[in-house]
Amino acid sequence: MELNNFQQIIDNTLNDIKNIEDLGQIASYIPELSHIDESKLGIHLTTVNNEHFACGDSNESFSIQSISKVISLVLAFELLGNKLWSRVGVEPSGSSFNSLVQLEYEKGIPRNPFLNAGAIVICDVLVSHLDDPKQHILDFVRRLSGNSTLTYNTSVAESERKTRYRNNSLANLMKEFGNIHNDIDTVLDVYFHLCSIEMTCKELAQTFLFLAMNGKNLLTNAVMQLCGFYDEAGEFSFKVGLPGKSGVGGGIIAIHPNQYSVAVWSPKLNKKGNSYKGIKILEVITTETGSSIF
Ligand code: GLN
Repeated sequence: MELNNFQQIIDNTLNDIKNIEDLGQIASYIPELSHIDESKLGIHLTTVNNEHFACGDSNESFSIQSISKVISLVLAFELLGNKLWSRVGVEPSGSSFNSLVQLEYEKGIPRNPFLNAGAIVICDVLVSHLDDPKQHILDFVRRLSGNSTLTYNTSVAESERKTRYRNNSLANLMKEFGNIHNDIDTVLDVYFHLCSIEMTCKELAQTFLFLAMNGKNLLTNAVMQLCGFYDEAGEFSFKVGLPGKSGVGGGIIAIHPNQYSVAVWSPKLNKKGNSYKGIKILEVITTETGSSIF
């Protein structure tokens, strides 16, 4: 793969996609997220050799939301190893990120760790095994990103807490099935904080670069490939061809094993809850650079 034209490809992609009509919507179901300037657009690509290619609003912090479910998965897997899979699966759900339906007929075992239900179970594991899970998550993210000031946006966490009806239902249903071991409010507090982490595209690309490093975390990449975009995972694989993870703040991280990590940000979401322009940008980048993994 030729690296020397990456910058030009990224610049051109951003300019082209900036001008197309954005058919997405801001995630207003979390009131605190609805204040964002919806025209924001940023890209940052970091290679495993520490080369950086960036453009647009790539140095502006935003709410990474469900992207941080990759972090919590890595931490919980460190704690429980393969025992984790008795609490949460690794199958694509084919349903939306906050769906209750599957959870009922699958007896409180979420399909995968990136659904809200799955991430809530993961937070329950962190609460069971760590003295201060919120601090532990922050320490881990700060170490990976190289930025010791990264933190939670407590207004976003509080906004989610206040409008927590659906996440509360997921947690209650799983509690009834015996798959939440701790107090629900304690677990959801960790979950809402996890989702409220803020980062720039540059920091996101740096934080997740470890998933592109030689043969590491193959499991995590496999789960991202199949489950990172909810009921759009197949389409993302088909169009972009990289493992990745989205968040309702409009960010997406994608990994090219052994080559690079790339973060994009555009706040308006398509109907599946993934960044409308973010996916388009990644599709053009992997097409133009010939770097789909397939
Ligand atoms: N915090 C959001 C929620 O619980 C995360 C959803 C997402 O980013 N897909 O709904």
